[in-house]
Amino acid sequence: MGKTVTVPAEEIARQWEFMGRCREALDARFGERRAAFVKSFGCQQNVSDGEKLAGMLAEMGFTLTDDPDKADLILYNTCAVRENAEQKVFGVVGAAIRRKAERKGLLVGLCGCMTQQAHVATKIRESYPGVDFLMGTHALHRFPEILYGVLQGSGGKRRRVFAAEESDGVIAEGLPAVREAGVRANLPIMYGCNNFCTYCVVPLVRGRERSRRSADILAEAKTLIAAGYKEITLLGQNVNSYGKDLEDDLDFPELLKAVNSLEGDFWIRFMTSHPKDCTPALIDAIASCEKVCRHIHLPVQSGSNRVLQAMNRHYTREQYLEIISYARQALPDANFTSDIIVGFPGETYEEFLETVSLIREVRYSSLFTFIFSPRVGSKAAAMPDPVPAEEKSRWFNELLAAQRETGMAYYERCVGKTLRVLPEGEGRLKHGILDVTPGPGERIWMGRTEHNMVVDFIGPESLPGDFVQVKITAAANWALAGVLQAP
Ligand code: SAH
Ligand code: SF4
Repeated sequence: MGKTVTVPAEEIARQWEFMGRCREALDARFGERRAAFVKSFGCQQNVSDGEKLAGMLAEMGFTLTDDPDKADLILYNTCAVRENAEQKVFGVVGAAIRRKAERKGLLVGLCGCMTQQAHVATKIRESYPGVDFLMGTHALHRFPEILYGVLQGSGGKRRRVFAAEESDGVIAEGLPAVREAGVRANLPIMYGCNNFCTYCVVPLVRGRERSRRSADILAEAKTLIAAGYKEITLLGQNVNSYGKDLEDDLDFPELLKAVNSLEGDFWIRFMTSHPKDCTPALIDAIASCEKVCRHIHLPVQSGSNRVLQAMNRHYTREQYLEIISYARQALPDANFTSDIIVGFPGETYEEFLETVSLIREVRYSSLFTFIFSPRVGSKAAAMPDPVPAEEKSRWFNELLAAQRETGMAYYERCVGKTLRVLPEGEGRLKHGILDVTPGPGERIWMGRTEHNMVVDFIGPESLPGDFVQVKITAAANWALAGVLQAP
């Protein structure tokens, strides 16, 4: 059993001191008004890290801006899961550096999963001299110290700070956070991953699994509920392994029950579940918790046993279907979603068709679908991959067509029902399924159902940040439209 490494309280106190020192140095550099632009790419874990960075920046006297042109500090929190996310980052970093010509004193930094990889850190160091600092995922809690190091450059001499070498993951409690305003909050319960799926870079850049103490999680959940959040998502790469590295603490089903027993009217979600650890005990726990949404995101990746084995997923198609069937019995209204990879090295068309048949069998309401992307350091990147990209694109489109069918059927079944919806903000209606125009004093809202389906509906200009009832009148294959019902 591994030992969870919590950053000592004295070290966190030292970082708080650096926040104060940065504040003084930044006053001297920019005057008292300064803005920071923080952009997080990728998954919810990165979004959550971005909220901590925003919290530390606020302590240093920055306001946050969503316009990089108005920023005195630009920070990109990067994602390494697929190549296209990486390419995007190199593009925006180049643009950020060019802004230095017009914006005196502008600071540019990089953090997140890409920066934890040695080849990326080297490329940034050598080919992007305008980047002032780079910190790997394990250095996040040392951001104030790192920024202070940069600010120590004097007499026209710049100082660049690179902190990506630390190899072990830690847990840092007691840092400030600025969460996105709204009704939904992310609550990390663990970090890292022990699974080493052969295509995946996450264990290489996020380190081994480590769980937060349940007392810290529950205290944070209570603060969030008191602050008015109505939906809490428990985050981890494989939440079902929560607590395995802790002695005398809860496991994931117990943690779910503990959060469920907190007072208040709120929803609980969790992501992501690994099918190999999604046990009947977990399903039973969900069934016994009325606040846990009946939505299970259970990434299957492939419907072929040979490919699943090559991916090192540790379950078979049959075992996966067994757990889905158990869940359908225990949670008759449960909704399933999944992640799929198309074109894993060596996958044949016949094997791909097994994935399509599995999608039809499970009848997912929606899917996140990806074409395999080779990642530096992952086993799959070294496997022979003879299928050409155009062929993989054709398979990908076939997959989307199958998904549209099952998704549409799922969404259409909601028409005529009245569903509980948590309004989040402005509706977009790009799907064009709501053919009514808001009247005076009204606007189009967007919210989500317990099953994580997007609903657009017309309502008054302002709504209290609370659940509403919406009668569903129309469906597309990824969104619903409806009419607000009187409370
Ligand atoms: N820990 C989560 C999510 C990991 S990343 C889990 O295990 O499900 C999110 C998704 O990105 C994965 O589920 C997978 O479908 C996809 N993904 C990861 N690495 C990939 C790669 N190299 N190429 C294509 N898709 C990938
Ligand atoms: Fe990556 Fe697999 Fe870990 Fe998910 S479980 S983060 S896909 S290695």
